[in-house]
Amino acid sequence: MPIQKTNQRVNINNRRIINGEDADVVQLYPMKHLFAWEAYNTGNANHWLPTEIGMQQDVEQWKSPTALSEDERIALKIVLGFFTTADSIAANNLVLATYKHITSPECRLYLLRQAYEEAVHTHAYQYIVESLGLDSGEIFNMYRERTSIYNKDAFILSFNDGIFDPKFKTGTFEADQKFLENMIVFSIIMEGIFFYSAFAVMFSFQRQNKMVGSAEQIQYIMRDESQHLNFGIEMINAIKEEQPELWTPAFQEKIIGLVKEAVKLEYTFAVDCFPKGIMGINADSFKKYIEHIADRRLSRIGLPAQYNSPNPFPWMSEAVDLSKEKNFFETRVTEYQTGGTLEW
Ligand code: FE
Repeated sequence: MPIQKTNQRVNINNRRIINGEDADVVQLYPMKHLFAWEAYNTGNANHWLPTEIGMQQDVEQWKSPTALSEDERIALKIVLGFFTTADSIAANNLVLATYKHITSPECRLYLLRQAYEEAVHTHAYQYIVESLGLDSGEIFNMYRERTSIYNKDAFILSFNDGIFDPKFKTGTFEADQKFLENMIVFSIIMEGIFFYSAFAVMFSFQRQNKMVGSAEQIQYIMRDESQHLNFGIEMINAIKEEQPELWTPAFQEKIIGLVKEAVKLEYTFAVDCFPKGIMGINADSFKKYIEHIADRRLSRIGLPAQYNSPNPFPWMSEAVDLSKEKNFFETRVTEYQTGGTLEW
């Protein structure tokens, strides 16, 4: 956008997540969307790299003929099969679809941090695959070959139709709703639901003292992801406030329908990981867990709960519970500055 020579200062009250009038996307200060600045600082304080985490015990367990059952090996591979491409899909959406239409410079600043974190996550999966000596072609191509993963990714990617078009522009009712729908699908469903069965699988390994290095990688990733989810929710809610006309009853129904479809896809994926149920987890508890988190995501954007399922994995909520997030980030900040082990 060309700059105008002027003595007129930018009025931050005109600043919007999308469609900011006289939008100046390069002037960070003064800021309006303070949640973005907070998210950016939290992200920096949580900095980590996959190579800092020891993988030796995992390598020994993976090589050992007795440390893991065949079902556990298959579950681990399927989970990695989902993870290895999921963060690249998320990153592409941020960089190629979201970023350009965001007119809040502070939100753009965080998106740059988030995009980098998605790269670190993909690095972590690559590092696990390499450390364990897995067939990288098998794992990284699984999103095309394995139906339960393919269906999740195809569902998500279908919401890029139109938005990836170079001619796509926000500023009309239809376009803005489409853009908001993309943001909700990527935050609430991709980052908020589709990662979580795979997280639960990894932490059930960890609870048995199995594959603890891989699980620790995933713990760092989950901490970043819950921050991405929080930021996505803040942006969605800010757009709802700035453009309330977009939030029609029909649109709300549509979003609820999409979340319900996603819950089914996620359950199919979980059953595919654990067809016989292992490590004390069966398909029914996974179903309840997915429904439980779907309700939580819906309520964060002001939509009614659909399932009212109790949380069958309280050990997950201890690590993931968004209401505790602030607390564990604060803990983490201090620890990061004084040493850097993961204790939260
Ligand atoms: Fe993410």
